[in-house]
Amino acid sequence: MSSQRKAIIIGAGPAGLAAALRLHQQTDISCTIYELRPEPTTLGGAVGILPNGLRLLYRLGVYEKALARGFGGPNLSLHSLQGHTIGSQDWVGWAREKTGFGYMRIKRTDLVDVLLEAVNEAKIPIRFNKRLEQIDDNADEVKVIFSDSSTDSADILLGCDGIHSFVRRSYVDPEYAPEYSGLAGLGSVVPTSALTSTTTEQIVGLEATMTEMGMLAVTRCTPDTDELYWFFTKEVALPASGDSRDGWEVQSKEEVEGFKAPLLEILENAQGEWGNYLRDIVSNTSVVKFYPIYRLPPGGTWSKGRCILVGDAAHAMSPHAGQGVSMALEDVFLLSRLLEDPSRPLGQIREKYDAIRKPRANEIYEIAAQNGQLRRRTGPWGLWFKEFVFSMAMNLSWAFGLERVGFGQKHLVYDIDEVGL
Ligand SMILES: Cc1cc2nc3c(=O)[nH]c(=O)nc-3n(C[C@H](O)[C@H](O)[C@H](O)COP(=O)(O)OP(=O)(O)OC[C@H]3O[C@@H](n4cnc5c(N)ncnc54)[C@H](O)[C@@H]3O)c2cc1C
Repeated sequence: MSSQRKAIIIGAGPAGLAAALRLHQQTDISCTIYELRPEPTTLGGAVGILPNGLRLLYRLGVYEKALARGFGGPNLSLHSLQGHTIGSQDWVGWAREKTGFGYMRIKRTDLVDVLLEAVNEAKIPIRFNKRLEQIDDNADEVKVIFSDSSTDSADILLGCDGIHSFVRRSYVDPEYAPEYSGLAGLGSVVPTSALTSTTTEQIVGLEATMTEMGMLAVTRCTPDTDELYWFFTKEVALPASGDSRDGWEVQSKEEVEGFKAPLLEILENAQGEWGNYLRDIVSNTSVVKFYPIYRLPPGGTWSKGRCILVGDAAHAMSPHAGQGVSMALEDVFLLSRLLEDPSRPLGQIREKYDAIRKPRANEIYEIAAQNGQLRRRTGPWGLWFKEFVFSMAMNLSWAFGLERVGFGQKHLVYDIDEVGL
């Protein structure tokens, strides 16, 4: 190997692109990114990013560009089907004061685009249409072979290839497999020009409505009022044919083709202007995406030899803590610091990475799992109880000044760069 250290990055999602950028900024390592898709992904709705992640986007130098494409309204409001607002709160106020960063909702394509622009500016090579098929890890180097028979080798490989990671499945920990959470989502980005109502200005943050069947949330995802993103999370049983790709394909087709009628039935008795608005959005949505939510249970092995898993490949969690991207960024920032000193042994880097990241990922996994419970099916009394608890939580938080001491927001001020090595 030449004296300059080299890294192969598998996957050009948020983790892979951010890893290449941070290593470029902070270390002497030269990176090449390999992505399975023929071009930057066009998949996904809009992701919410919280202060701990926004601060890292800022340090990467892409925060302003991302904000220029996203929506920063920090309020969380809960609406009832009876047409009133149960509670509304700036859910990151304390964390914003501490970190200087609030909340951003941005289309996943825009986030990837902004990161990709920065990667291109830094002249980091990125190769599309590269499906990793083989890893040969030995004492001197790690060698990879792609489906087109091309190869590369490096000192280190970062597996940033998402929840179904080939790097994990084929090499790092083949036993460590994602499990279905029991929840699935339907979602769509809708142009507001398709709506009959003009209520969009009133969307000042994440506007959630609990129903007996699940939770419907609406938010903006661009700086203007031109588009809305909505998603409905609900309990869905595993397909009768089992946890197989084929089973989910059939289920997905049914969900996507027939999404309107069941949702409109759930919203049939939704009252007031809010009820009309929700029906307007659903009625005027033409295409939805269905996604069963999988996650990796805490545990598993995150590195082996010269290969280290990053982001969803290591710790995919359900999206209900809004932390997937931020967790990937925290991984990346820690790894870059650990890799800064070329004399630090790889074994020590792997140990520190595990020791620092696993407790943090477990904490966020639990928060996401708890938040997911709110989306599960319930009866009329269960719904009443959920709304009551939510309203009490908001009111008590205000009455006792819990917001002022960071209640429920402590995990949002975590700064990975402050963690001692
Ligand atoms: C419905 C839903 C809603 C979500 N909402 C939020 C949210 O609000 N906030 C938030 O922070 N997070 C959210 N997330 C999670 C977030 O999307 C992920 O945590 C984040 O995308 C992880 O980034 P990643 O780069 O690790 O993985 P990915 O984004 O999955 O990227 C992996 C990349 O690797 C590529 N790849 C895969 N296999 C190979 C291979 N063999 N060879 C080469 N390349 C390969 C893929 O094509 C892909 O481009 C949500 C997720 C879902 C499913």
